[in-house]
This record gives sequence, C-alpha cells and structure tokens, in this order.
Amino acid sequence: MPEKKEKFYLTTPIYYTNGLPHIGHTYTTVVADVIRRYKRMRGYDVVMTTGTDEHGVNVERAAKKAGVPESEFVAKMADAWRALWDELGIPADEFVRTTDLTHVRTVQWLFKLCRENGYVYKGHYTGQYCIYDNAFVNDAKPGDNCPDCGRPLETITEENYFFKLSSFQKPLLDFYKKNPGFIQPDTRRNEIISFVEGGLKDLSITRTTIRWGIPVPGEEPHVFYVWFDALTAYLSAVGGPEYEKRGYWPADLHLVGKDIIRFHTVYWPAFLMAAMLPVPKQVWAHGWFLMDAAKMSKSKGNVVLPRPIVNMLGMDALRYFLLRDVVFGQDGNFSYDALVTRYNSDLANGLGNLASRTAALIEKNFAGKIPKPAALKPQDEALAKEAQAAIGEVLENFDKLSFARALETIWTLIAAADKYLTSEQPWALGNSEADQFRKATVLWTTAELLRIVAALAFPVLPDSAAKVWSLLGQSDALGKFELDGLRWGQLVPGTSLGKSQTLFPRVDKTEAIERIESMANEELNPPKAVPAPAASAPAATGASAAAAAAPAVSDKIGIEDFAKVEMRVGQIKTAERIVGADKLLKLTVDIGTEIRQICAGIAQYYEPESLIGRKVAVVVNLAPRKLRGVESNGMIVAASVGPEGRPVLTGFHEEVEVGARLK
Ligand SMILES: [Zn+2]
Repeated sequence: MPEKKEKFYLTTPIYYTNGLPHIGHTYTTVVADVIRRYKRMRGYDVVMTTGTDEHGVNVERAAKKAGVPESEFVAKMADAWRALWDELGIPADEFVRTTDLTHVRTVQWLFKLCRENGYVYKGHYTGQYCIYDNAFVNDAKPGDNCPDCGRPLETITEENYFFKLSSFQKPLLDFYKKNPGFIQPDTRRNEIISFVEGGLKDLSITRTTIRWGIPVPGEEPHVFYVWFDALTAYLSAVGGPEYEKRGYWPADLHLVGKDIIRFHTVYWPAFLMAAMLPVPKQVWAHGWFLMDAAKMSKSKGNVVLPRPIVNMLGMDALRYFLLRDVVFGQDGNFSYDALVTRYNSDLANGLGNLASRTAALIEKNFAGKIPKPAALKPQDEALAKEAQAAIGEVLENFDKLSFARALETIWTLIAAADKYLTSEQPWALGNSEADQFRKATVLWTTAELLRIVAALAFPVLPDSAAKVWSLLGQSDALGKFELDGLRWGQLVPGTSLGKSQTLFPRVDKTEAIERIESMANEELNPPKAVPAPAASAPAATGASAAAAAAPAVSDKIGIEDFAKVEMRVGQIKTAERIVGADKLLKLTVDIGTEIRQICAGIAQYYEPESLIGRKVAVVVNLAPRKLRGVESNGMIVAASVGPEGRPVLTGFHEEVEVGARLK
C-alpha cells in the first residue's frame, strides 16, 4: 500500500468582484500556483482555492447600473475571473463563490457556533450614512460629505449583531507566541502584535441597511457584513460544516496582500476560536506591485493587465518576472522595460539558448542521442558538484517562499553551464577517439545540468521546463516528478532527444513594449460597441463592461488580434510529394531559430525541386496539426488566385534574413 499523501491546503484571497483581475491579483494567484506545483512535486496532496467575493453594497450598485439582477451580475463576473485563471494556466482546484449554497450554509453555521458559545450579541451601530447610496461610509465623521456622491452624510444608528472581538486579545497574543510562523513576513507579525496589544473593539458583523448579502437565519433583514462572510469562504471551499470529511482544514497557508493581513490574522482566527474550530497554520502577506512607486488601481489608470504580456511574451515569462524581480513579501516596481530585459537576458539568452545549443550539438555529434560520459576532468566534477548543491539550496528556498533566491540559484547554474561550454568548446574538438570521448563527456554534463534545471524550474516555468524536459527525451510528466528523488547523474546515455522547439524567441525591446502597451490599451478602453439592436443585452457599464459576454460587432480586428499571429521569413530546405495526397507537399523550412516540417497544399502548382532555397512567409505560431497523417508545424502563406484558388507563394524583392518577423 502506498503511503497516504500528506495534505496541503492553500488559498489566495477571495477577490472582490467589482472589477477584473490586474497584475496584482495575477501575482497572488501565480504565487499560489507555484507553491501548488512545488508541493505536488514534493509529494503532497494539494488543494488550492481562489474565488469571488460577491456580496455587498458595491455589487448591488454596479448591478443596478448595469440594469441586471445582482445574481446575474456576479455570475458573469465569477465566470470572467474563472475564465482568466483558466486561460493563464492557473486554475483553482476549488473556485468558491460567496453566493454558493455551501458557503451560505457555512457562514450561517459559523455564526450559530459563535453565538452558542456566547461571542455574539445584539447591539447598535452608529455611523455616517449616505441615504442616496444606501451605505455607511467607514471612517467618516459627522458633517462629512459622501465620498461617492458628494452629498451630506447623516448620522444613523442601526441594530447590528456584534462579535466579541475584545474577548480575544489574550487568546490571540498567546496564539501568536505559540505559533511564531503564523504571520509572515516577520515585520508584519510585529505590526499585528502591537495592534492587538493596543486593544480590540467588538466588531459589527451584520447590517440591516444592505440587501445583497447572506441572511442571518430568523433575523431578517440582518445580512452578514463583509469579513464574516468573505473570510469564511476558505472553509466553505473544502467542505464547510463537513470539513472533517475532506480533511483539508485547517488551511496550511493563506496568501494575502499586505492591506488585508489584519483581517486574516486577527478577525479570522478569532472567529474560528469562538466557534472552537481549528485555526489556519500560516498567513503570508506579500507586497504590492507599484507603477512609478504608486499602488496600481483602476481609478489611477496605471493598471497592468496580464493578458497583453502573455500574448507577447508567454505566461512563463510573466511568471518568471513576477517571482524573480521582487523579494516575496516586499513591494516591487513593475515596469515593462524590466520585464522585457529579463525576458531577453534570462530566458531567451539564458535558458532558451543553453537548451537549443546543447540539443543542436548532441544532434550533430551524436545523432540526437544522449552521449555516454567518459573520464571526468576537474571542471566536469566541479559543475556536477555545483548542480548537486543547487538542488538542496533551491528546495530550501522554495520551502521558505524565497522565490527570487531559488531562481537566482537556478540561473547561476545556467550561467555556469554557458561558461563551461564556452571554455570546453566541444564544437572545436575533432574526430579522434579521445576528442569523441571528451565531446561526449562535455555534452552529457551540459544535458544533465539542463535536466536538473528543468526539474527545479518547473514550478515557476511549467510550460518551458516541460519542453526542456521532453527535449532531453524524458517521457514522464515533469509535474509528477518527485523532487526528493532528483540527483546528479540520472540522465541515461542513449536516450533519444525529443523534438526541438523554440522556447523564448528573442524580442526587440521597444517593439515588444509598444505591442504590450497597445494591447493593454485596447483591453482597458475597448472600442465602443456599435449601437445595439433592441433585443441585445442592456449596455454594460463600469465594472461590468469587461465581463459582458457580448463582444462588439465589428469586421475589423484590433492590433492585439493581429499580434497573435507570428509570421516570419522562412527558407525552404527540402520539398517532397506525399504519397496518397496529390495536393500536398511536405516541406522542411528554416525559420531562423529551428527547422520546421510544414505541409502546404501547393503540389499541383509547384515542382518540389523549384522550391528549394526559396524564401516564403510562414505563420510560425500555429498549433501543429496533421494533414493526411503528416505533421505540419506552421503554415506557408500564399495568395489564392482565380476561381479555382490557385496558390501563389509570397516572395520578397529585397534580401531578407531568414527568421525576420513580418508585421
Ligand atoms: Zn452618497
């Protein structure tokens, strides 16, 4: 019987649905995904939860503005958030919505437990209230104006249920003392401890002035207010009242932004203690990404969106940048310049180049099979030692959530391998037996280092690390590889290399930034929809605009659509007919970074021999497909002429470099 896996439960915040995710939300969710992948590679049974916080007066208003019922509004929002996480390859294992029935039951159950244990009482809340917006304005003083509509606020007293937070000062302080790792990083722990030492006031946890919320059973019109509702979602996601059946509670890790750490480390453990439920093991507060030293926000118009970056550079590039450039826990500056610089230096010239160089040398010298190393020289042994040591170091840093450190160690290894290749010069060695042995040793060593790099980098670069992994002929899924078993020396000589593929094509910085910015601009300011026909959905506004399902009707595409198509100059190397397919030619085409096999439906009009050496336009980022059983990895662009659609290949009237991008 295999040993039962240890469980690990982690969460992102349950994001408030008054807008769509920007890079800040993406950052937290990416970090959660990295931890999830890492923990799985360490043998844990992991569940990661994210979700949407869908109640409250802001949602009520946004729905009203959009002219739809709240339930419809939040359903669209939740779909949009979920879809984005799926698109970015960071889907939740549990996506919880605070309008889910299980969640509603869990909140009501938690309240009942707190009440039965004597920590809930009915009282009165007095605050400043806007009668036009139907909302209390937190922190306003009598005589202030409403920050939303500018009209004078009124002092209103309403009946509320209160939670006896004041009873938890000592229990919380004792808990922090006993569990010094509970609040991370340490600076945050000190802040929270002094906040709690300063005394805790009881907390109003229901409202009668809000309609869109979870009802307090038997106490209508009371509905639960903000934190009692939202925080409980972590528990509802893994079973709520039946949490013991699934066995994931208490959570091992709540990842939060530093602005909401107090709610997670004071209110949340207090609610759970009051209900006599287990308290989470750790809350980690990370910093913010700042744009020009200011916090990103939609109202400031300095929001960075994930999608344009991913379209231009790929998700792995964004993941790498987010984790490499900022010490987890601190604030970081976000700039496209730094992003693209990192991309070119660390990914294109670093990992990508090392992988393609190594594969090409093995291809050329050893017919694509991993060579068998011979007698080792001190420099080979030194590199082996460095790689072996890096394994322990990287795992230790991942355990501490020191992602930047972990990546630094991996990239130091890549640089060492580059240097090693450059000084050993396997390409300059001849064909004598001694030279062959030396070549084999150097290339095996480099390939083995790459294998270790791929395994260690996988949590951060799942897509490209898996490509390197299969390039090295490793057939098992890298995500299921157990890092505890990773050792230097496991690369088996004789293994055939997998297909080579471009990992990170180098980009021109100015051009890349321009494209990202223009795509971001399109996404933030979508072109105005043409006047809607009477039967269409009500016009969406504000927060709901981006979530509205119906796209603008237009024949034109935005630049971001065109930018998705990557066309390059390719040179045809070989061409042959395909037996049984009289229209198709099988071509191999040099696209600068690699040689591709592409099928083209031009056999009736072009003699294969006439095509050799010809430069053509190639769509290089088309998903590979099979035509008449032959794999085609890309598409040759041709004009379609006349009624029968005769293909005419594109050409260039001036000298063009193979691999040049068409735009
Ligand atoms: Zn107002």
